[in-house]
Amino acid sequence: MSFDSFSLDQRIMAGILAAGYTTPTPIQTRAIPAVLAGKDVMGLAQTGTGKTAAFVLPLLQRLLNDNAPTRGPIRVLVLAPTRELAVQIHQSFFGLGKQTGIRSAVVIGGVGAMPQIKALRQATVAVACPGRLVDLMNQGAVDLSKVSALVLDEADRMLDMGFLPDVRKVMAKLPRQRQNMLFSATMPAEIRSLAESGLRDPVTVQV
Ligand code: AMP
Repeated sequence: MSFDSFSLDQRIMAGILAAGYTTPTPIQTRAIPAVLAGKDVMGLAQTGTGKTAAFVLPLLQRLLNDNAPTRGPIRVLVLAPTRELAVQIHQSFFGLGKQTGIRSAVVIGGVGAMPQIKALRQATVAVACPGRLVDLMNQGAVDLSKVSALVLDEADRMLDMGFLPDVRKVMAKLPRQRQNMLFSATMPAEIRSLAESGLRDPVTVQV
């Protein structure tokens, strides 16, 4: 198996080369074709499996397929439990998508909101911690009306940290017609029910 088999755009292949990836990991092999086909995906995977690139690569491709403007409004929204993880995912979009011109903005607490609000206006991808995103939504500072793909990363940690009410608040404000991906290392009842209500006929990938 090689990355060639996914028929990704040359600009994305350049990002893969620059990252030094030669062979897709098992979760990438199974999730990338499903996301490219527009399917919802439920990924049971720990960190370290390559799960970030498993959604970043096909979502970049879908943005290119849609000829989406590279600078806003937000089309892809990723929710992550911690600032560190959000920054890491943002950096993956930046690194793998460098040649595409697609911009990502990071939305995390503990730092000033103003630069984030400005970055959001210029970005097509937002990677956010739920609490700060809800704050910005309450201020009317973020336009999520064009979101066509949602990723919930490390959903079980978002549950443990008490973020599920914020996650549900965000989900309620998104367009109903959208692609959904949920990644979790474990599948407690609350995450199962979130998946049942939020995902449509998902492809399940377990690694
Ligand atoms: P993740 O599970 O997404 O946190 O990724 C774990 C680490 O694996 C990160 O440092 C990635 O850059 C790296 N990685 C992801 N996909 C590949 C791949 N196909 N080949 C080599 N390294 C990879």
